[in-house]
Parts: sequence; C-alpha cells; structure tokens
Amino acid sequence: MKDILTDTFGRKHNYLRISLTERCNLRCTYCMPAEGIQLSPKEHIMTYEEIYTIAKKFVDLGVTKIRLTGGEPLVRKDVSQILEQLALLPVQLTLTTNGIMVDRFIDLFKKCKIKSLNVSLDSLKAEKNRKITRRSYFEKVYQNILLLIREGFTVKINCVLMKGFNDDEIIDFIKLTKEHPIQVRFIEFMPFDGNRWKMDQMVSLQDILQRVTTHFDQKNCIKQQDALNDTTKSYRIKGYQGTFAIISSVTNPFCDGCNRIRLTANGQIKNCLFSSKESDILTPLRQGHSITSIIEHAIQSKFKVRSGMDTIDKFKQTDAHNNRSMITIGG
Ligand code: SAM
Ligand code: SF4
Repeated sequence: MKDILTDTFGRKHNYLRISLTERCNLRCTYCMPAEGIQLSPKEHIMTYEEIYTIAKKFVDLGVTKIRLTGGEPLVRKDVSQILEQLALLPVQLTLTTNGIMVDRFIDLFKKCKIKSLNVSLDSLKAEKNRKITRRSYFEKVYQNILLLIREGFTVKINCVLMKGFNDDEIIDFIKLTKEHPIQVRFIEFMPFDGNRWKMDQMVSLQDILQRVTTHFDQKNCIKQQDALNDTTKSYRIKGYQGTFAIISSVTNPFCDGCNRIRLTANGQIKNCLFSSKESDILTPLRQGHSITSIIEHAIQSKFKVRSGMDTIDKFKQTDAHNNRSMITIGG
C-alpha cells in the first residue's frame, strides 16, 4: 500500500492529535483571547462516531499514537465513550489536560490502557495560577497531579514560561522532580491568534538552561537521550527521580523529526501547529466521500519548517501568524 503518511521530506506521520472540543473550564491568557472565541456551531463539531471513523482511517494508514486534546478534552460530555471507542484501536492512547477533572476518570483511564498524561500547570502559586488561568483551580489541579502519580500514571507537567511572570519558578518546578518521577516541560510561549504574543515575553531554551546550570551547576545537569520525534530537549538533575525538558518551538524548532498531524474539533486537518491552511475532512466524510486523498494532500503539502517560517525573523513578524487561537487548534 502507498505510504501516504510520509511527506516529501521523508517524515512519517504516525502520531495523530485530536482536539475533542473548543470549550474549556479555564481561560489561560496565552491560549484563550481575553474577548473569548466564537465557538463553531455544534453541528460543525465532530460526533464521537466521526472521531472514531477518522481515527480508524489514520490508524489503517499507519498512525500508532493518538493524543486527545482541546480545549479541555475532559469537559466534552461524551468523552468517556470516545475514550472507550479509541481504546479499541491498536494505538498508544494518551491525553493532554488541565487536570481539573482527572480524578473522575482514573478508572476509565486504566480501563482504556492510558499510561501517561500531560497536565498543564504554569505556577506553583495559587494566586499566579488564578491570574494566568483566570480561574481558581490550583489546589484541585495540584492534588490531581499527585493522585495520577500515586495511581501509577506517567505524568508530564506542561508549563508555559512568561518573562517576569513565572520564570522565577523554574527552579521550584525542577525541584518537584527530586521526589517525583515526573517530567516538567517548560514550553516557550508561542504566538497564536488573540494571545498578544511578544518575543520579549518568551523565556528561551538558552535562558532556561542558563538559570538551571547557575543554580544546580553544569556538572549536575545531565542531558538525557531524546528520540528523533521528541519535541523536547530533556535533562535530569543528578540524583533526582524525574526529569525536566524544554520545548523550544520558537528558538529551536524540532521540525526535522516531526511526526505529528492534527485534527481540530470541527474536523479540519492541520499539517503543522503553525499552518494557516487547513484541510476540511469532515464535510467529505459526511457526504460519503473517501477522505484518503485529503489526508494525502495535507501530508504532502507540509512545509519543512514551521509552515514556511523557517527563520526566527520570519517567525517574529506577528502578521505572519494568520492562525487560530490555540484553544481551537488543540496544542
Ligand atoms: N486544556 C488542555 C491543557 O491545558 O493541557 C489541553 C489543550 S492546551 C491548548 C494544550 C497545551 O498547549 C497546554 O499544555 C498549553 O499550555 C499549551 N499552550 C497553549 N497556548 C500556548 C502558547 N501560546 N504557547 C505555548 N504553549 C501553549
Ligand atoms: Fe484551556 Fe488548556 Fe487553553 Fe488553558 S491551555 S485555556 S486549560 S485549553
């Protein structure tokens, strides 16, 4: 069979990220515009049967890993059905969540053989969390992270760093990895529609490493082996159980090993997080047409680097980012 998931640069796209919803119970400033977003009409959102049909098509073509995201995937009413259905596919199933509701799903996660979850947490201080998420759920999220660890899940904490806001907590976050076998991932703040991104607000890979090595000493900061498809550059502090990692999409894009393809909640394929072009897969599916050629075209038209923004100068021009808000993409 023709390998349609391999693009013109030889990258095989075996990892599908499905956004289940544009809704969320938080309002993170870097993700959700202050004025809110225009939600897609309900009838434009994929049903759970459509999600399964599209996911199965991707799996038949070679996808081996599926991540559910959003918005907040766990606020979707039929998320349990979706998880149970997707668990029937021969894939590694996982999700990215803000952690507020995970305690209600522990048994289901186990039943669906979910082994690992990414949970977002941008500050270890309740007040700062309230500021960045515009809601007060710090304690709940923190307790749920501890619960996931106790229940044996692999937990990765996603922390978007913003200069002058939470970059003073880098060391405190890393100290969490002393006793807990988790990975803390610092994410460079990225530009999306409505998030008022400024380059000078971003904390870069280089900044982070400098602070870490100043605090812990270079010799205690041990580089870990990253897989080709990893978006992270990972490290362990000597003697610590867990690791920390940096996702440097802005200053050091990891496009060479990209194996990701995204499906938005309203059924559009995005071949790159930064692409403004999308391919509608839901309308043809509903019309009873084959979706294979649309998937093929989406993969084949993928740029080598960040949807064509291959230099930092191109990336810095915010008008180059004709993209959705992150909340409607699914990070
Ligand atoms: N609601 C879930 C959550 O918060 O984990 C899943 C969706 S959220 C869009 C997925 C990830 O994207 C989160 O880890 C979030 O921190 C990250 N993210 C959102 N906006 C971002 C931005 N502007 N720059 C970098 N990461 C961002
Ligand atoms: Fe919601 Fe996640 Fe976006 Fe925060 S980052 S607003 S939790 S979707």
